[in-house]
Amino acid sequence: MAKPADRCSFCGRSRRETKLLIAGLQGHICDSCVLQAQIILQEELATVKKKDIPDFILLKPIEIKKYLDQFVIGQDEAKKIIAVAVYNHYKRLSHAKNTKEGDVEIEKSNIVVVGETGTGKTLLARTVAKMLNVPFCIADATALTEAGYVGEDVESILARLLQVADYDVAAAERGIVFIDEIDKIARKGDNPSITRDVSGEGVQQALLKMLEGSIVNVPPQGGRKHPEQKMIQINTQNILFITGGAFDGIEKKISNRLQTNKIGYKTDRKHETLDKDNILQYITPVDLKAFGLIPELVGRLPIVTFMHTLDRATLRRILTEPKNSLIRQYTKLFELDNIKVVFEEDALNFIVEKAIEFKLGARGLRSIIEGIMNDAMFELPSKTGTKSFRVTAAFVETQFGKTSMARLKVA
Ligand code: ADP
Repeated sequence: MAKPADRCSFCGRSRRETKLLIAGLQGHICDSCVLQAQIILQEELATVKKKDIPDFILLKPIEIKKYLDQFVIGQDEAKKIIAVAVYNHYKRLSHAKNTKEGDVEIEKSNIVVVGETGTGKTLLARTVAKMLNVPFCIADATALTEAGYVGEDVESILARLLQVADYDVAAAERGIVFIDEIDKIARKGDNPSITRDVSGEGVQQALLKMLEGSIVNVPPQGGRKHPEQKMIQINTQNILFITGGAFDGIEKKISNRLQTNKIGYKTDRKHETLDKDNILQYITPVDLKAFGLIPELVGRLPIVTFMHTLDRATLRRILTEPKNSLIRQYTKLFELDNIKVVFEEDALNFIVEKAIEFKLGARGLRSIIEGIMNDAMFELPSKTGTKSFRVTAAFVETQFGKTSMARLKVA
């Protein structure tokens, strides 16, 4: 009989009966017991995770705004409205778990954010999801079509959310979906009966049920529904939908409405001090309807807010202030090579000027810096003696002159 030292201390198999016997201080473990232990460990950790980790991390509205401030510059109105909406939405979720018969049922509040492209709509939605630690995905409304047409079914949005949630249905069901370019599926023209267009109104109709809260059959791999594909059911009742769009020309609709009201209510003082440079701040669901969203869809997007166009000062702040701002990221990249990089104020102002000149907004800041810093990032890591590097206005100007963007201007 094999000595205890030659046996697995867990299953008792002798060394000959195992592929591998690993020795410990007091005993041994064989390959199959290691595998068995790993399975037990995974199962146990999964249940511990579900028990101990809260479904989401919910802060109070003021704290939510403070959190958003770390990543999104300006846009205070939108941040406040979203902070309250998100707080109420997830409070509603916690409340729903403990509801009894006859309790007040809190309805869900999806959000529309109106504002030019590159003003931080997606960033806001993404940051909220990060804060809550819930699954998040982005969908493009222009890629969607109503069932039966070429393009993506609306269910594909949920398939993406499910993938992000690692196929954890419960997690996906409390996630956040950002639907971009919702304005592009607006009905063209004001008269619904004559101008019914398949691509726009059909998609709006298809989105309705999902936004409102229903059980949707989702093809797990996304794409079209195939009869042989097993569907996963997702309840969208607690999924928060944040939609965004530029709504080009909506200012005119808002002005028209305000103008009409002004004539109707001459004594209304509020309208006498209209801030004409920022008409978007007066946006209401009525304007979304006038723009071409069908009333039912507007009804399911009760929270409407707006984003300011980014001015010089905001772009300048975006360069350095966010927690993961571009300048901080570049500083870190150089730091990893033991090089201390300093961006001079004039250099930063130059970058902002170019972003404005080329009408690139915040998105352009990155490509401009990328172009400017490329030579330095190529050469400096190999220069062993270099310990610091000052990015001056002159340097930035010369480097920018070499980029394809500058050539674009010459052409
Ligand atoms: P939108 O969804 O409105 O088109 P994004 O959120 O995609 O715009 O913004 C593009 C990028 O520009 C973001 O990833 C971010 O780096 C930057 N950005 C835009 N607006 C802001 C802002 N207000 N604060 C900080 N960064 C911003």
